Amino acid sequence: MIDLATAQAMVMGSVRALEPVRVSAADALGLVLGEAIVAEANVPPFANTAMDGYAVRAVDTADAPVELLVVAELPAGKAPTVRVGEGEAIRIMTGAPMPEGADAVVMVERTERVGDRHVRIGNAAKQGDHVRRSGGDVEAGQTVFVAGELLTPAHIGVLASLDVHEVLAYRRPLVGVLSTGDELVQSGSLRMGQIRDSNRPMLTAMLREAGCEPLDLGHARDDEQVITERIAHGLNTCDALVTSGAVSVGDYDFVKIAIEKLAAERGGTYSWSQVAIKPAKPLAFGSIGGTPIFGLPGNPVSSSVSFELFARPALRVLSGAREPSRPVVEAIATETFARRPDGKIHFDRVHVTIDSSGRFRAQRSGAQASNVLSGMAKANGLAILEDGDGVGEGESLKVMLL
Ligand code: AMP
Ligand code: MG
Repeated sequence: MIDLATAQAMVMGSVRALEPVRVSAADALGLVLGEAIVAEANVPPFANTAMDGYAVRAVDTADAPVELLVVAELPAGKAPTVRVGEGEAIRIMTGAPMPEGADAVVMVERTERVGDRHVRIGNAAKQGDHVRRSGGDVEAGQTVFVAGELLTPAHIGVLASLDVHEVLAYRRPLVGVLSTGDELVQSGSLRMGQIRDSNRPMLTAMLREAGCEPLDLGHARDDEQVITERIAHGLNTCDALVTSGAVSVGDYDFVKIAIEKLAAERGGTYSWSQVAIKPAKPLAFGSIGGTPIFGLPGNPVSSSVSFELFARPALRVLSGAREPSRPVVEAIATETFARRPDGKIHFDRVHVTIDSSGRFRAQRSGAQASNVLSGMAKANGLAILEDGDGVGEGESLKVMLL
């Protein structure tokens, strides 16, 4: 057995980011930025009012209450044509440019119209009140974003405000998904001995969630040649591959053999490890012609946990992510997490909630056998139980949040 950190270091040491490409900013949500973005102009481009109100000269309001002559009206989107002179004000709407002469805005709620042409200002205004200066959000020449930032909806909005409609970003890795096993059926009725293929749809969904583009390589029966051909096809087409099943010590575990053979033929590395974790002990991993391939175990929970621990962080690196790991937090165990020393780290499926004091609390989300996928479905975290006797109720527990 090798320890988890060693196995993870082996995988992470053999992957690197794909080349960034130019993409439309509208399609860049969730991608990692591959360049710095420098602003060419100020945002906002001109000083404008943050409030509906009256643009005034602060000095004219010093002896408030005062009455000022309203000389114009200025909605958003219009350029001012009239300046604010001594004793004057301009009715102005949020977003409209500050007229020349004015240096403050008085909120409409703090004013009162007097007749047709005058406004009464109740309190003295200070210079700059409710004025948004040009460049107050972004200054021309400023580096707004750096390479490696994950593009969120707000990033997309800022790019639009800068008139940037294309960016260099890491594309979504194309990742092939293959399931193996003579017992697997895709849908419909089952004969004795058959089960439905749940891993391929699950892994496809996990890839999407990890920001990858999945490619369905189908299901292969337990035949060395068929499995080798499918993996070879995947290597020719994809940036990475994940397979499920046939990596343990059974008589039909041909994925191991296929990866080893292809690595030898095409040039690359191959390793098969018994990782000191439960679930998901066996891991076949290869890097063939620079393409990583993850031979995940067939038990659905093992497949899922192995994907989380090995494939996902590696695929996030391909996607350009600088922080490819899931967050690990301390949670309070709301029940006893008993286990026996066996030299392994155990990953229990848990449901994490946040209590009224803001602390995480973790509870098992169902039975913990490696075939009980319904417990995984109810989980939003994996409790990390170091080798030993487990964690008692009320004690602190490390949880990887999914
Ligand atoms: P294996 O790793 O191929 O020895 O499979 C281990 C266990 O996982 C067996 O009980 C398989 O029937 C089950 N299994 C393998 N592949 C899948 C799959 N794609 N969907 C659901 N169960 C699977
Ligand atoms: Mg199998």
